[in-house]
Amino acid sequence: MRLQGKRILVSAAAQGIGRASALACAAEGASVVAVDINEEGLASLAAENASIETHRLDVRDRSAIDALAGSVGQLDGLFNCAGFVHHGSILDVSEDDWAFSMDLNVTSMVRMTQAFLPGMLERAEEAGSVSVLNMASMASSIKGFVNRAVYGATKAAVIGLTKSVAADFVKQGVRCNALCPGTVDTPSLRGRIAAAPDPVQAEKDFIARQPMGRLATVDDITPLVVFLLSDESRFVSGQAVLVDGGVTI
Ligand code: NAD
Repeated sequence: MRLQGKRILVSAAAQGIGRASALACAAEGASVVAVDINEEGLASLAAENASIETHRLDVRDRSAIDALAGSVGQLDGLFNCAGFVHHGSILDVSEDDWAFSMDLNVTSMVRMTQAFLPGMLERAEEAGSVSVLNMASMASSIKGFVNRAVYGATKAAVIGLTKSVAADFVKQGVRCNALCPGTVDTPSLRGRIAAAPDPVQAEKDFIARQPMGRLATVDDITPLVVFLLSDESRFVSGQAVLVDGGVTI
């Protein structure tokens, strides 16, 4: 069991990559705290694996985050997975769109890390190592994509934030990495495809930019999540780890 004895919190855990990650971490022996705003999704996650502790948490709500940090105890792993894909070029972005995506995709990670890192630093003194994992994307400082102006900017900020946290706390046993997936078949991706003027063509276009000829599944991503939260990655910090099916070859 690669995460035996570790307490790990996963945000955006009701569906998609977050949910699959919560299940994968539990399967590797972690005590998992799964949070999301989707209570129905959390209930079905708890029904699928009764060992997973679920809490409704809006990662945009600082006081709720602080309250949860006070009640769940010290963490060994924090996976900040929540994020939103805005569709459009810079000419399509209102200041409200920009503020919303920056808040959900970046500032939420600031809030979560500020709330949970003090306990993780204490834990690191006993355990030797703790891990913060932030969800970025290949669409970030790594590569530009059509109609991902706000999204790419927020995920680039996630990578910058990740490197700063890694640099500041490397000597205290805290590792911090960013995960950068390619296009993953999740409920929100299905929503983006359905919302396109021609959904059949939209799916073909998503697949066409994947050199391996297919979208990722969540099971292509979770092995990296488990690795980066486990001690197997004990010498890895400050990295933007790509799992993109070869898009950036
Ligand atoms: P998704 O978009 O299907 O689900 C996101 C989850 O986040 C939902 O359960 C939703 O309820 C939750 N959520 C939304 N706002 C929240 C809030 N304020 N507080 C708490 N939870 C909230 O999941 P996904 O597609 O797996 O995406 C998860 C992460 O992975 C995102 O950060 C996304 O940007 C990133 N990502 C996704 C892909 C992809 O192709 N799907 C690729 C690269 C990166």
